Amino acid sequence: MSKIQHVLGISGGKDSAALAIYLKDKYPQFNFTYYFTDTGKELDETYTLIENLEGYLGAKINKLEDEGIKNSGEDPFDFFFKSYRGYLPSPQARWCTAMMKLKPFEKFVGDKPTMSYVGIRGDEQREGYISRQDNIQSIFPFRKNIWSQDVLRKIFDPKNQEQLLGYYSDFYSGNKLDKIVNEFSKPISFNLNYKLQTERIINEKLDGLLNVGIIEFNKSVFKFLKTTNYPISFEEDYPLLENEDNLVRADIFRLLEESGVGIPAYYNKVAYEVDGQKGEYARSRSGCYFCFFQQKIEWIWLYEQHPELFKKAMTYENEDELFTWIQNESLKELINPERIKQIKLDHIKRTGKEKSQGSKLLMDKLIDAEDGACTACFI
Ligand code: SF4
Repeated sequence: MSKIQHVLGISGGKDSAALAIYLKDKYPQFNFTYYFTDTGKELDETYTLIENLEGYLGAKINKLEDEGIKNSGEDPFDFFFKSYRGYLPSPQARWCTAMMKLKPFEKFVGDKPTMSYVGIRGDEQREGYISRQDNIQSIFPFRKNIWSQDVLRKIFDPKNQEQLLGYYSDFYSGNKLDKIVNEFSKPISFNLNYKLQTERIINEKLDGLLNVGIIEFNKSVFKFLKTTNYPISFEEDYPLLENEDNLVRADIFRLLEESGVGIPAYYNKVAYEVDGQKGEYARSRSGCYFCFFQQKIEWIWLYEQHPELFKKAMTYENEDELFTWIQNESLKELINPERIKQIKLDHIKRTGKEKSQGSKLLMDKLIDAEDGACTACFI
């Protein structure tokens, strides 16, 4: 029996669902444990996706539930909302992610060495959640670089350079090895005052090495990690070392469609008209229907497409205490007809401008809204 467990979190969003499909099809030898952390405030489409996915995977997606909360008769969000005395979560005070996503996940995983698979795509610039627990290692199969940022920092630490070059010399000699030496030799500082610069240099070195060879890079990193306490060090071999794929947004939609699991209905564009002008809106993310990461146009989408949920979201606000989902604006103010009109017109203008610049399609822009947001909830 393997000493390590392989876990995959299903958020209810498109990317984690597609990752489960992709890994099952491409690496049937893995025994994945799937999990879902339910906030109690998801859209129905999320539950439909999970049901469809269970059918495709032929496996159960474990719903992580806390017995204490379950016995309270409340759902997780309401339970914590009460314990935080009505203080709404926000991008600056994200108790919701910490209490409802990360804590149950770390409890579920326990002490066992664990590889956690994250569906960040090859066309995204963000980094996923990295556990502070040493026994949890994140892997990113959709990207050319499957390793997490903490691993890269070790790889490019000058004190490990010689060791890495030793592994590389098993694969390369001559010109190619010179290129590798050249990348490793570029100066780098891990001074915390120059964090952004360090990240930029790491990415440059990484690109340089991946351009020479992805598999050789992976194998060298693997050999290095075998000398550490990372969970992967327990593995004799690791099939993803040979993976050179780079999956982007279009691949994710294709995987969902071709598998029959389907794309969550909230991604479907809905047409609207205001002052004789036409626009389209949709929801860009999974997660709680009242998530504070959503854009104003998405709140209007919620108001017009799921009025009962919007009403429920309103009940959490306390205008006297200035506890509102959107900074400096209550939902009551947001649905003033003049305000709705203004938000829609702004949205039409913005998307029209982007289209005329030939940048991206509306849907791409909407979905981009998830970038920079909560990776534990929306992947
Ligand atoms: S979806 Fe939004 S509100 Fe819900 S837990 Fe995640 S960050 Fe918090």
